[in-house]
Parts: sequence; structure tokens; C-alpha cells
Amino acid sequence: MTVLQMPVRQIGLMVNAFARASTCGSRLFGFLDLDVAIKEAPHARPLEISEGTMRFENVSFSYPGAENRQTLRNISFQARRGETIAIVGPPGSGKSTMAHLIPRFYDVTSGSITLDGQDIRHVTLSSLRRAVAVVQQDAFLFTTTVENNIAYGDPWANESRIERASESAQLHNYILGLPAGYKTVVGERGVSLSGGQRQRLTIARAMMLRPSVIIFDDATAAVDAATEQRIRSAMRRFATDRVTIIIAHRLSSVMHADQILFVENGEIVERGTHDELLAKAARYKALHDLQTHAGNDMLNDDDGAS
Ligand code: ATP
Repeated sequence: MTVLQMPVRQIGLMVNAFARASTCGSRLFGFLDLDVAIKEAPHARPLEISEGTMRFENVSFSYPGAENRQTLRNISFQARRGETIAIVGPPGSGKSTMAHLIPRFYDVTSGSITLDGQDIRHVTLSSLRRAVAVVQQDAFLFTTTVENNIAYGDPWANESRIERASESAQLHNYILGLPAGYKTVVGERGVSLSGGQRQRLTIARAMMLRPSVIIFDDATAAVDAATEQRIRSAMRRFATDRVTIIIAHRLSSVMHADQILFVENGEIVERGTHDELLAKAARYKALHDLQTHAGNDMLNDDDGAS
């Protein structure tokens, strides 16, 4: 099918998506103003992914303007394609900061982050941002149709891929129930979505991009337990072909991770699988016991799960 034979809506989707793909990935996932300080290296090359291995080597970081305080200290770990790494720890310990260094929302102060051996500071920003998707709690919605919001950034979006992505993100049935289905306008001047629905929309958006690294920053915090289970099983299917990083407050979301990093005051103080960390009977176990006793059922129900 040539472009001229395509249905008008499909051309519209493509044009929109091409235009959007040229904007930086940070806009997609809610980071609108952070790019100013990040510069592309003069001879940056496009990122080439083969094995799909990501490595943090002795990464330390201080926020610009707060150089006297190290937010991260000597962080080292490796993740291979298909592996899920969970980052847990007390509030303010540096979990999100670790994740935000991967798409270069900020640059490391010392040490390095590499993808298949390429320092992320030496590759083009556009190739890096295509390879790394971040699913945030407060996802950014554009005032346009649901399908455009999901397809955002994907020049090859078509109806069936959009539907598959939203099915995986447990959003499809909810969308079908909207006044104009996938054509319903959402965002500031359209139908407003709940926190959980916005999150699932961003998950669908990330799924469209088939990134090499996907970061879920507390991505299931605003959904009810049943939806969380369904999203998690979709995430597991999605995880087979990429590195998955989950930043979570609820340990129930990280039990199946290949490696759990417990971060405290910007340092990894424990690491291992769920069982290994429980056996250590230290911080992770203490947090686990606390959450088990407190119960995880205090969350509000979220409507519209598929
Ligand atoms: P939470 O579990 O509450 O989300 P976290 O473990 O993800 O916390 P971060 O958000 O990474 O922690 O924050 C780590 C530290 O860095 C905190 O002390 C926080 O106040 C500080 N911080 C976060 N963002 C900035 C910023 N833009 N500028 C300066 N300091 C920041």
C-alpha cells in the first residue's frame, strides 16, 4: 500500500508520529524541561544494540546546584537482555535518580553507564531516547485522541499494534467503553483519565516503542491490586526482549526480579533475589516484614481495567 492509498487517519497518525519522533523522548514520558543541560557529544554515533547489556560502573552523581551532596555513590550493576532489575529502598534514597541517568535526563558526575559497551554520553541522544523508555507515575497526555497518545513517537504505528499494546497494558476494554473508543480525545481539553489509566496509557506507549531498556518508575502504584497483577504479567511478557528496571515501593511488584538492589542514602547496600535477600535477614527483610504486616490493600480501587 502506498501512502496515497492509505486511509486518511493512518496518514495522519504517521505524520503526527514522525513529527513527534523527532522531538526528544523525554517529552513522551513526562520530562519536559530537563534537557537543557544535556549536550550531545560532537562526534556522537547512533547507539548500536546487539547483546542488549546495560552496565553501571562506579556511578556517582550530584544534582546540578547541589554539588556538595552526593545523591548516588559508587553504583555498579549489570543487567542483560531479558533480565529484570528492581530498585527498592527508603524514600529519597536515590532510586528514581538512578533510573533517570539511563536516558540521560542528567549526566553521571563520575563513573559510566554503558549499553553494549557504548558510553551513553558518546551516542546520539535520539538513538538513546529511542532505546530507553521511562514509564512515570505522572505521565504526560497530549490533547488528542487516545490512539494518537499511544502511538506518540512511533512512526510505524498502525491500528492493530496500538490495540495490541493497549491490550497488554490492560487498557483496551476501557478504551472501547469511551464515547468514541480509540478516537476519544483525552488530555487537558478532553476526557480526563484517572492516575491508573494514565499510567496504563504510558505503558502502552512504551510497549509501542519496543525499547532495549524500559524503566517502570513505580508504574503500578496508582492501580488496584487486580490490575497490578495483570499489568505485571504483561510486563513479564514484554520483559523477555529487553532490560527491565522496576523502581517500586511495594515489594510485591519486585519479587520476581532477577536482581533486587536495595538502595539507602545513594548506595547499594544489599543485592540479590527476593529469596536471597529474605535469607539475609537484613534491610530488605525488615521492609518486607513491615509491608506484609501492614498489608498491601490500602490502595484505592481504580476503574476501567481490561
Ligand atoms: P522516592 O522513593 O521518595 O521516590 P527516591 O529513592 O526515588 O525517592 P530520588 O527521587 O532519586 O529518591 O531522590 C534522591 C535525593 O535527591 C533526594 O534527597 C531528593 O530530594 C534529591 N533530589 C531529587 N531530585 C532533585 C533535583 N532535581 N535537584 C536536587 N535534588 C534532587
